[in-house]
Amino acid sequence: MPSESDRNFDPIPYGRQHISQNDIDAVTRVLQSDYLTQGPEIGKFEEAFADYVGSNYAVAVSNGTAALHLCALALDVNHKSKVITTPITFSASANCIRYCGGEVDFADIDPETFLIDIGKIREKLEAAPKGTYDGIIPVDFAGRAVNLEELRKLADEFDLWIIEDACHAPGGFFVDSTGTKQFCGNGQFADLAIFSFHPVKHIATGEGGMITTNSEELYQKLLKLRTHGITKNTDGFTNSIEDAIGDPQTPELTAQEFPKWYMEMQELGYNYRLTDFQAALGTSQLARADEGLQRRREIAARYANAFSGKNYIRRQAGVVKGHAYHLYIIEVDDRLGLYNELRDNHIFAQIHYIPVHLMPYYKNLGWKKGDFKKAEEYYSGCISLPMYPTLTDEQQDFVIECIDRFYG
Ligand SMILES: *Cc1c(COP(=O)(O)O)cnc(C)c1O
Repeated sequence: MPSESDRNFDPIPYGRQHISQNDIDAVTRVLQSDYLTQGPEIGKFEEAFADYVGSNYAVAVSNGTAALHLCALALDVNHKSKVITTPITFSASANCIRYCGGEVDFADIDPETFLIDIGKIREKLEAAPKGTYDGIIPVDFAGRAVNLEELRKLADEFDLWIIEDACHAPGGFFVDSTGTKQFCGNGQFADLAIFSFHPVKHIATGEGGMITTNSEELYQKLLKLRTHGITKNTDGFTNSIEDAIGDPQTPELTAQEFPKWYMEMQELGYNYRLTDFQAALGTSQLARADEGLQRRREIAARYANAFSGKNYIRRQAGVVKGHAYHLYIIEVDDRLGLYNELRDNHIFAQIHYIPVHLMPYYKNLGWKKGDFKKAEEYYSGCISLPMYPTLTDEQQDFVIECIDRFYG
């Protein structure tokens, strides 16, 4: 264990990216190529990512929030829609519904898993007239996979769609009733799943995101929405060839083909594209994803072991099969004291999350303290400890030592 005198004063954040020489070379190659955006790297990254999570389709986008927005649009969320999500998530999981004018409702968490409580969702659905709700956005919070098999059954009973927010969980899985591993974002149970490639997440592209699905129809919609609502697919054109040619003097009014320049903007889409150099970085990072995941699981097991039986721990994430450990969370008394003590030691723990319903924006929509007691109780003591593949055993031991000393 490092002593006071030789201890490392490099700051230890709660999460950070790992960029290898291969990553740098991959980006450099694209910078020297013909395409900075809309080139061949996007398709490669999408294919590799779909392969990694086990989905039929993947659509790369500019960030995880854009991914959520496009999913909501593809599922026709509008001012009449009502959607359930968890209060313990990044606000974007809820905001995407508001972007489309829809109403957000929350279901409280299960304090043991920190995930949305499926029983609470059922209560909500059964208490309302059928047709009240349109969909559910579960979050594989901290990297722990939601049991989507169970959630799908409930969703089918009430005719709801599911968008899985899997930002924390590439490579994570749950085991279904047949004993099969169901990987996050594989499209078996959720209609759509989304990922983020922000530098604190498992795979970093700076900003970046991905949507995965097994639905060909949703996939086609997403491609169009990602790029202004424009299509170049002649099969889908609604204008006539004559209108497309645009020149009434043209003798080719008998033409059988649309001119090569022609495209149609068919609905109001956005520019939510990823660049090619980001996609190349993503592909390069993805090749090391399993290595990183394995290291995260080792770190988690070391924390779990170090904290087992410690009386200052109210609850800890622990060792859970299929957990992808974007975060390692413990619940403690005097969380503020611990947070400050860690900061004094250059350890930058973080809190995930301030409950979404207590954000002023959502309070202005009518939510208040006391609405989701389990989430609020969780928030009172949760703290996310350093967790990233390049965290060394020595650094981790120092974190554990500081915590022990604080409660000692
Ligand atoms: C990071 C994150 C997002 C948003 O992703 P960005 O790429 O930052 O837009 C959404 N949901 C969750 C749970 C996240 O952690």
